[in-house]
Amino acid sequence: LMQISIPLNFIGFIYREIRQGLADIESMFDLLGVPAEIKDKPDAPNLKAVEGRIVFDDVHFHYDANRPILKGIDFEVPAGKSVAIVGPSGAGKSTISRLLFRFYDVTGGAVLIDGQDVRDVAQKSVRDAIGMVPQDTVLFNDTIAYNIRYGRPDATDEEVREAARMAQIHDFIERLPDGYQAEVGERGLKLSGGEKQRVAIARTILKSPPILILDEATSALDTHTEREIQAALDQVSKNRTTLVIAHRLSTVVNVDQIIVLAAGEIAERGTHTELLAKDGLYTSMWARQREADEAEARLRAAKEAD
Ligand code: ADP
Ligand code: MG
Repeated sequence: LMQISIPLNFIGFIYREIRQGLADIESMFDLLGVPAEIKDKPDAPNLKAVEGRIVFDDVHFHYDANRPILKGIDFEVPAGKSVAIVGPSGAGKSTISRLLFRFYDVTGGAVLIDGQDVRDVAQKSVRDAIGMVPQDTVLFNDTIAYNIRYGRPDATDEEVREAARMAQIHDFIERLPDGYQAEVGERGLKLSGGEKQRVAIARTILKSPPILILDEATSALDTHTEREIQAALDQVSKNRTTLVIAHRLSTVVNVDQIIVLAAGEIAERGTHTELLAKDGLYTSMWARQREADEAEARLRAAKEAD
């Protein structure tokens, strides 16, 4: 019995270690949605992403050959500027961010970063140049410090704390009994959607990439939390090329250009003011958003009056 219990314990230990490792890798893949078939060309050089200018040049894309998703998408994000993609659910917004990350290859046209086709450079160098604050942040089953430091493993404790401060999550962490050593994830502390997003923002601040993709949270956040997070997001996107996949129009009012996507095509583009003047799709989306926001405000007021 003795002889067997020791190895079993040991196996249990190894098993847990491997499982944690796999969980990390799995959640990363999940997060990134990485399909296995994307391969680098032999001797593909690294992306030279100095400025972070993004160009979508007549991009076509489908997941299944019989169902086109993007049908000739043209736009440019000048270095340091921000562009928001808005449009109904299923329009292809998140697909655009996946193509920029090169999770998939385009089926027509090209995606360029600083003039380099993302298919011609090492995939890893593309991903290193881009920070992503995803819609649903997957936290690793580890400490909150680990989860933030993931953005740059060699960051010092002070750098981790500074990133957390900028992401407006530091005070929250300090109030936890274990502070930065608090275990989070499935087996630890359950964080709210807004808290998880701020951890993801802190992680991205640490990574400090020239390009940023914000796939905004939808139902996970109420307007109140969203406003708090907006301040943190403004911090990260300052002077960085930013692609915002926006669900709530209130967050795109100040971007340099808004692209309205509908059924895989660009229906309208311009600044918030220009688009409102067109009195088209954007204007009707804006009106609907306002109604939804007002309904939420009434609900909140009614709850508080209770
Ligand atoms: P949005 O972000 O605008 O809501 P997506 O870019 O996520 O839209 O999706 C666009 C369309 O592509 C949707 O119809 C969606 O169902 C489909 N789609 C998304 N991902 C996949 C996938 N991995 N395989 C097949 N179809 C997909
Ligand atoms: Mg989406």
